[in-house]
Amino acid sequence: MLTEEQIGIAKKKLLEEKSKIEAQLGKFAQKDSVVEGNYKTPFPDFGNETDDNAQEVTEYEQNISREHDLESELLLIGRALEKIDNGTYGQCENCDQEIPWERLEIRPQAKLCIDCKEKSE
Ligand SMILES: [Zn+2]
Repeated sequence: MLTEEQIGIAKKKLLEEKSKIEAQLGKFAQKDSVVEGNYKTPFPDFGNETDDNAQEVTEYEQNISREHDLESELLLIGRALEKIDNGTYGQCENCDQEIPWERLEIRPQAKLCIDCKEKSE
């Protein structure tokens, strides 16, 4: 079982990570006003020269893939925080085993134990 103190540490890290990711997303994406936790990447506008347009497309594609990575990270963090609230934090979502603290300390949003994680890869 995780101690109250460990859960407190995990929660603090999750909240810090959450605001970091939100800040990163905020630099290039806009919060979706309809879907909670969703972000939209606007198409950048550098100008109308052919070179500008090619650069816009490249930047847009990079932003979209960054947006997706950051968003899925945010989802994981949100779920971990919910689990802290309902007292199920630290259990593997696949086999219900406890996730070792050594793993959660490094990656508090982890939802699988190491065995299940390795099997899923
Ligand atoms: Zn597991």
